[in-house]
Amino acid sequence: MSYDKNNIFAKILRKEIPCKKIFENDYVLSFYDINPQKKIHALVIPKGEYINLDDFNNRASDQEIVALSKAITEVAKILGISTDNGKGYRALTNLDDHGGQEVPHLHFHLFGGEKIGKMVE
Ligand code: C5P
Repeated sequence: MSYDKNNIFAKILRKEIPCKKIFENDYVLSFYDINPQKKIHALVIPKGEYINLDDFNNRASDQEIVALSKAITEVAKILGISTDNGKGYRALTNLDDHGGQEVPHLHFHLFGGEKIGKMVE
């Protein structure tokens, strides 16, 4: 499968579609999910063209990988849901069909602002 340059997050990165930005640097953009599933629901995406986490880990540079991982922690701090203040959150990414991925550009969901039940008992 090749990267679809017309996916919605590619359009957000090209500023063809607006987003409610939370954080941005050379490698990463973070914005609020348009359809929040929890009190706080943010997305963190790489600026590079990667379909999902497997594609990212196969092709991205170490710099890009470190930047995305660190951005998750940075965004949690900005949103006040960080483990630093004893709160915490869930970060997850869906991969492809069985993982329930709808937008084919790698994104991590950050859910927080309320207690989230366990997904796996
Ligand atoms: O993991 P999945 O691909 O299903 O998640 C896509 C997410 O992108 C959804 O939570 C959806 O609400 C969000 N989205 C968005 N802004 C858009 C289109 C989708 O935040 N313009």
